[in-house]
Amino acid sequence: MTTLDTTRQTVQPHITVMVPAYNEAKNIAKTLDNIARVLQQMSPHWNIVVVDDGSRDQTAHVVQALVETYRVTLVRFSRNFGKENAICAGLNYASGDMVICMDADGQHASELMLTMLEKWREGYEMVYAVRQDRAQESSFKLWGSRAFYRMMSASTHVSIPRDAGDFRLMDRKVVDALCALPERNRFMKGIYAWVGYKSIGIPYTPLPRLHGESAYSKLKLIALAWTGITSFSVLPLRLASFTGVILALLAFTYGTIVIIDTLFFHESIPGWPTVVASMMFFAGVQLLFIGVLGEYLARVYDEVKGRPPYIVSDVVAPQSVFTDKDK
Ligand code: UDP
Ligand code: MG
Repeated sequence: MTTLDTTRQTVQPHITVMVPAYNEAKNIAKTLDNIARVLQQMSPHWNIVVVDDGSRDQTAHVVQALVETYRVTLVRFSRNFGKENAICAGLNYASGDMVICMDADGQHASELMLTMLEKWREGYEMVYAVRQDRAQESSFKLWGSRAFYRMMSASTHVSIPRDAGDFRLMDRKVVDALCALPERNRFMKGIYAWVGYKSIGIPYTPLPRLHGESAYSKLKLIALAWTGITSFSVLPLRLASFTGVILALLAFTYGTIVIIDTLFFHESIPGWPTVVASMMFFAGVQLLFIGVLGEYLARVYDEVKGRPPYIVSDVVAPQSVFTDKDK
């Protein structure tokens, strides 16, 4: 079904909620219950897609038992492929006129979906939830995210909204656009912004996790930020060229001074420390930027290999819901 903006006020859209889950056995049942409760208030047509991202606990078993109760399509990965890829799969299996992406750990309040739907009815194609609780976070996360957004906005053309994550509603148009992108290294925050569409942010405060701990360690967060920067900007490469130019100018100036000194003032040049120091410095800078080049090359290599972003081992769907992509 396609919905024109004018009909959105009255239509009863099909809503798909999709939930990436990794080791969430203790949380997923409660989360699904919350989601279903709110969905019932929103529309008679809804379903849920849970992507089990290679969990090592009982997540898949718990969900499988609830397939009929909560109209869940369970998509199981053959191993852990990461949240970004789980979202990609979830979008592929979602059949709704709109898709809402939510975490499995209960941190995203289902009630916010009501506001998201309201905004969709007003004509927005993407409604993203914006975190309001940054002030209480660790200084690592706070400064890290500040630096990240500053760097991204300085170096890319797409403007990525601050503190907006994967908790968002997307119209079918947006979902189709996202699914059509061929790239394998998916940095969702960037991609959401890149596809465009009429978007709006709504504030929310994440709830505490029901059980367990976040899968994102400091190291993983840094890796994710680096993926974001290298897949959406060429700033590090530009920095390399810029540094090269500055250093070359400095070297040229210094060389000229040395030549003038030797020709006109016949100064004997002891020079040894200067030579060693500058050699080491230049070698260091070169190695650093060869590393940066390597990072980009690695991304190209990953894309060229053409491997799929994830492998589905099995799909369990309820009888009642027809999901055309399960065929
Ligand atoms: N998740 C996933 N694959 C992973 C890591 C996490 O599908 O490799 C899911 C996880 O089950 C949860 C969501 O992504 O539903 C957010 O993860 P988490 O709570 O660990 O991150 P945070 O809340 O700290 O962003
Ligand atoms: Mg969480």
